[in-house]
Amino acid sequence: MIIWVSLAEPMSGRFVFLDRDGILNRDRPDYVKNRDEFIFYADALEALRWLRRRSIHVVIISNQSALHRGLMDWQAFFQLHGHMVREVQRAEGWIDAAFYCPHRPDEKCSCRKPAPGMIRAAASLFSIPLAETAFIGDKLSDVAAAENAGCLPVLVQRTSQSVDVPEHVRVYNSLLDAVRTLV
Ligand SMILES: [Mg+2]
Ligand SMILES: [Zn+2]
Repeated sequence: MIIWVSLAEPMSGRFVFLDRDGILNRDRPDYVKNRDEFIFYADALEALRWLRRRSIHVVIISNQSALHRGLMDWQAFFQLHGHMVREVQRAEGWIDAAFYCPHRPDEKCSCRKPAPGMIRAAASLFSIPLAETAFIGDKLSDVAAAENAGCLPVLVQRTSQSVDVPEHVRVYNSLLDAVRTLV
């Protein structure tokens, strides 16, 4: 598990967990492998600004198996991460911390979503009350990770997809819509 923390501000108050690819930026079937392939959704930058104004801390929880699949090198990964953090700041948002799993499914780690390892690590590091904290993702594996960790699953689907969403899961068609309902 790779853990990055901004350390710029005390980590107390309210939190939200966000998936990265498909939530902040366009996902791609062949993985987002470098900063040129990282394209923000405009509503996501607005959502991050909205969260910042309300002092809600943002923690990214993201599977990045392209690392151990050998499809992305570490330098490109960290460049992409730095680019994301800076662009969010430029848009008056803030990312407080990011947790990444570099493993492939066959490595059977405890951090790859739907396992709750990254959410639990974040919760213990920052004393986050999981039962009151939402995890916003775009896949059912995000919903499962949220449930496995004991936080509130929220799904964002920007295009209508025919996935069977469990009845109790709230679904929104943009990140901005999703975060506006958090408070
Ligand atoms: Mg995703
Ligand atoms: Zn892992």
